[in-house]
Amino acid sequence: MDSAEYERKIAARFATFDQDGNGYIDREDFSAAAKAVLAEFGTKARSERGQALYIGAEAFWQGMAGIADRDGDQRITREEFVGGAVKRLRDNPERFAEIARPFLDAVIAVADADADGAASPQEAARALKALGVQAEVADAVAAGLDSDGDGRILEPEFVAAFAAYFTVPE
Ligand code: CA
Ligand code: CA
Repeated sequence: MDSAEYERKIAARFATFDQDGNGYIDREDFSAAAKAVLAEFGTKARSERGQALYIGAEAFWQGMAGIADRDGDQRITREEFVGGAVKRLRDNPERFAEIARPFLDAVIAVADADADGAASPQEAARALKALGVQAEVADAVAAGLDSDGDGRILEPEFVAAFAAYFTVPE
């Protein structure tokens, strides 16, 4: 990957986190992400699944802030994202999985219409698109996730794919 390609990918990842597009990532972006997923699947915020999603989003924000918000102003700038989050997450993908897992668990629970504990590839793609992942990337990721073709995507696969998407190789 050349540096222009790398920059483009980083910019796309930043834009995914910066849900409201105001140029920095903060708590509002994470609650906006939760809200978008709930809207996509017609789930109420006050439901058990809705509450779990908001709690997961808050934990995800706290984890990201801990990694990237160097000046502690409760905002992750693009500079902090590139200099802190991207590098540290690439060095330690397990850490990223840890901070993202409660949120992603909750996303799967919301997306999983038949409540069998797994999302279908279509449900996973819808969730990723609701989160702002570009449509063609979301479809490819979701299809790839169901590697054994049984139509069920479990949480560890979803977490691994999400981590792979955000930990852009240099
Ligand atoms: Ca923002
Ligand atoms: Ca900051």
